[in-house]
Amino acid sequence: MAWPVFTGTIEKEARAASRYTKKHGSCIYEDALKTEIERGRVLTENDSFVAIAPFASRFAGESMVLPKRHITYLGDTNKKERGDLADILKLVLKTNKEMFGDIAYNFSFHDTKYSPKLHMHLEIYPRILNLAGVELGQNVFVNTLPPEDYAEGFRLKVISVKN
Ligand SMILES: [Zn+2]
Repeated sequence: MAWPVFTGTIEKEARAASRYTKKHGSCIYEDALKTEIERGRVLTENDSFVAIAPFASRFAGESMVLPKRHITYLGDTNKKERGDLADILKLVLKTNKEMFGDIAYNFSFHDTKYSPKLHMHLEIYPRILNLAGVELGQNVFVNTLPPEDYAEGFRLKVISVKN
């Protein structure tokens, strides 16, 4: 589903990214990626993209795929980057299958033509567990698989998937 308007989470992220850039002069996503690398939450990477298990993941096995260069809109990727995106997505899903079996997913592209400060990314939500009362009633997410543990398990499995 694609939205014809700029609203919801994407709008909030774009506004926050714009405020951050005004204050710090850099991209919030690129700065956050440095922290994700330092904290061991990188799943895998290739020439153009990095896949991470983001800080404060809401769901077990949640991941985020970001381009290494600042791109705001999927349509602004070049042919090499689109191939690299397909490759890293395939690797993430194959490795997740090794870890979790055949599961359903939700994917959400966070990109826009209307905010030059939003660093486009793809969020991947494995549907391993059903949402319970605390998530539905209080909008509080209980993640039984910390992102650091997911990333460590992923890196052990990804070796066997590549071979
Ligand atoms: Zn950026």
